[in-house]
Amino acid sequence: MIPSDFDYVAPSSVDEAVAALANGGEDAKVIAGGQSLMPVLRLRLAAPTVLVDLGRIDELRGVRDDGDALVIGAMTTYYGLLGNPLISKHALLLADATHTVADPQIRHRGTLGGAIAHADPAGDLCAPVLAMEATMTAVSPSGTRSIPASEFFVDYFTTALQPDEILTEIRIPKHTDWAAHYEKLNRVAQAWSIVAVAATVELEGGAIRQARVALTNMASVPVRARGVEEALIGQPATPESIRAAAERAAEGTDPKTDGNADADFRSHLAKVLTRRAVSTAIGA
Ligand SMILES: Cc1cc2nc3c(=O)[nH]c(=O)nc-3n(C[C@H](O)[C@H](O)[C@H](O)COP(=O)(O)OP(=O)(O)OC[C@H]3O[C@@H](n4cnc5c(N)ncnc54)[C@H](O)[C@@H]3O)c2cc1C
Repeated sequence: MIPSDFDYVAPSSVDEAVAALANGGEDAKVIAGGQSLMPVLRLRLAAPTVLVDLGRIDELRGVRDDGDALVIGAMTTYYGLLGNPLISKHALLLADATHTVADPQIRHRGTLGGAIAHADPAGDLCAPVLAMEATMTAVSPSGTRSIPASEFFVDYFTTALQPDEILTEIRIPKHTDWAAHYEKLNRVAQAWSIVAVAATVELEGGAIRQARVALTNMASVPVRARGVEEALIGQPATPESIRAAAERAAEGTDPKTDGNADADFRSHLAKVLTRRAVSTAIGA
């Protein structure tokens, strides 16, 4: 289907984009890589009157080292993440999950900011961002604010971003040299997660010193597997302790039943994939 008519603006700075979004009123919308928004427009599930294209704003691209954190511009593509050595050293979990997204074409166009702002419960980068306790920076005519990942994801396809706010940066605390793995189950024909697990752990002398685990598609938003984390911390990095901890993976989740899996099967998958994710991360 052909999208409804809309005006198109392509500003070259964040300030101009914020002004364009505000001037466009409540029916204005931002477009990043377009990999989720364009299908939505073509299906006429949304009909914005103004599209504000962020594609020409250079300041929104790239990864910078900011001491104890990495700061990633919202318009950094999946491809840009994968090629960046800062990501593989300090946020390996993000790189590992990014490898699993869709196909090369989509990874060249899709952006981290777009993926996070879209907040698809099956989206693969939301759980890693939650697990690594990232903070999002949002800019609007009222100023700039920071939103922790634990407050950012509100419901299905709904975030804490207000209609006049643009997500500009994702700040990820460094997890330098942490082991990490993103394990997901998907249909062979497409890469969308039925369930997936993002796990990253810090090892010290054969024991697990710190652990962060988050789940994809086990609720309307990504969920931290706090029970698993508690059970892993201080334990030897052995198959037995990982298996025992993984049994707690479905605690506090609210999985849906759909054509791919029912809720009970999703709960089972969460445990199996958690065991695999942590085992693969640490090579146990
Ligand atoms: C065939 C196909 C397969 C896919 N497979 C997968 C997969 O396996 N795993 C996966 O995780 N994803 C998958 N995707 C989705 C893909 O990852 C999208 O690129 C991503 O979800 C959105 O990123 P984008 O930059 O294209 O955002 P857009 O599509 O441009 O925007 C998405 C939404 O976010 C808003 N938005 C974007 N940027 C900002 C910003 N900076 N500030 C405020 N709001 C913003 C837009 O207004 C829009 O509502 C797939 C997509 C397709 C078409």
